[in-house]
Amino acid sequence: MALLKLEGVTKRFGGLVAVDHVDLEVHEGEAIGIVGPNGSGKTTLYNLISGVYIPDEGRIIFDGKDITTLPAHARTPLGLARTFQIPRPFGSATVRENVAIGAMFGRAKLDVESALREADEYLKMVGIYELRDKEAKLLTPLEKRLMELARALAMKPKMLLLDEVMAGMNPSDVDRIIELLKKVRREENIAVVSMVEHLMHAITKFAERVIVMHQGKKLIEGETMQVLNDPKVIEVYLGK
Ligand code: ADP
Repeated sequence: MALLKLEGVTKRFGGLVAVDHVDLEVHEGEAIGIVGPNGSGKTTLYNLISGVYIPDEGRIIFDGKDITTLPAHARTPLGLARTFQIPRPFGSATVRENVAIGAMFGRAKLDVESALREADEYLKMVGIYELRDKEAKLLTPLEKRLMELARALAMKPKMLLLDEVMAGMNPSDVDRIIELLKKVRREENIAVVSMVEHLMHAITKFAERVIVMHQGKKLIEGETMQVLNDPKVIEVYLGK
């Protein structure tokens, strides 16, 4: 059974069909790339999956439950985590406190002490435990992104929806994030869905399967290398 299933999901803005009858399945522990040029519908698709928007047509099933009309905050406790859904990082709070907020978010019964203990575990997992007492605003861009991942992991999701997690990172930072995402999948069996605008080499190192969006529709889907070398995909990126 698919962990996430979209059936004919459609979202319109006035006359514009931003997401047009998209079917999609993501299985437990899978690594998926959602690729497509600017304006192809990736963000709207993410907003539909995470509950920012409710589709005009179609159904969304997560972990066997119909979540089509469920608000975003009610999706998080089911195990669907999108990094930006967690309250924004508090600059003056420490790294550890910020991750503890992630642990408490969506798990109302968790007390502060346990949340802080869990925060330490996830900071170790992403490799920034030594920065735990630093104010979050003093982190480098890479460290901030790793903290965001620790916050998302602390929510104990079944699926992580990552918004352009590798954007603006240099190649060695990208490698570090990719290694971390691989570890997360291996150790926690979390499905990881990453959105990528540019056909970055990085996606080939991480995603097993890629879905290419074009004008709101799924242009093609399949094994990463095969899809990225498909003439249809190359054409879309060259704007022909
Ligand atoms: P991507 O993330 O691939 O760049 P988007 O999902 O942001 O694509 O956009 C898909 C299309 O929907 C674009 O034509 C965009 O202008 C339009 N769109 C997105 N959000 C809105 C909105 N809130 N109101 C009107 N049009 C929107």
